[in-house]
Amino acid sequence: MRIEKQPLVMYKTPKLTVVGAGPGEVDLITLKAIKVLKTADVVLYDALVNEELLDFINPNAEIIFVGKRRGCYTYQQEQINNLIVSRAETHGHVVRLKGGDPFIFGRGGEEVQALQAAGIAVTAVNGITSGLAALSSLNVSLTHRDHAQGVVFVTGHAKPGTQGTDWAALSTTAYQAKLTLVIYMGVTHASDIQTALLQGLPVHTPVALIHNATLPTQRHAVCTLGELTHTMRAQRIASPAIMVVGDVVQGLLATGACLQQQRQAA
Ligand code: SAH
Repeated sequence: MRIEKQPLVMYKTPKLTVVGAGPGEVDLITLKAIKVLKTADVVLYDALVNEELLDFINPNAEIIFVGKRRGCYTYQQEQINNLIVSRAETHGHVVRLKGGDPFIFGRGGEEVQALQAAGIAVTAVNGITSGLAALSSLNVSLTHRDHAQGVVFVTGHAKPGTQGTDWAALSTTAYQAKLTLVIYMGVTHASDIQTALLQGLPVHTPVALIHNATLPTQRHAVCTLGELTHTMRAQRIASPAIMVVGDVVQGLLATGACLQQQRQAA
């Protein structure tokens, strides 16, 4: 009897690793993240990911940009979820590379749920979130114990159809409990946020606005809550930017660091 040789078919186990790329500067990604990128079969990445990081990816991997950028196709979240599932099934190890930390306003949680529902194993690798990096880049602590007992990370852009942040309640709590507010995605609604925060916080509360934190193109402005919208426009602070509201910023305001600064490349 003649035995036909069957071609050897190797199936890779489908799996997803959700990886934080850090706030922008290449060196701020973790070693663990770099190791994961080297073993990826497919990498899906977002607009806020520094593209210099793509050099670390396994040269045989497929790389797919799924972020929003002018002139590029914009993927809906469900399409991204489906793409991850199908690529994991056909290619094996999919890495989802996201700006900052994948689980801080990065929809990483939604993607993990979708993949787990499809029976695919998921691992997460943290990144430094931009809300941490932004003020640190100015050598200021979010929790200086003379000024703040805690920190709130909050989005200025709630999921469409949801009620959104109760800024007035938050400002009252922040004032009473001495909390620093770190506001992501606040540029578009800055004027509304300012008006609502003034219900609970004094008009002279210091604010730092940090654009492109940790990148050579970083710029920042410091002002009071009463001057927030005016300063943002005057200093042309655009997205992506972090707004830090609270007395921890007082030192910057007091030393007259009110004007935008170009971060010197290290
Ligand atoms: N997961 C990301 C946040 C995604 S939401 C993280 O952990 O950082 C996108 C928002 O993050 C932007 O609108 C902006 O508010 C903030 N952001 C991201 N990168 C930034 C950067 N380098 N400088 C300032 N803000 C940044």
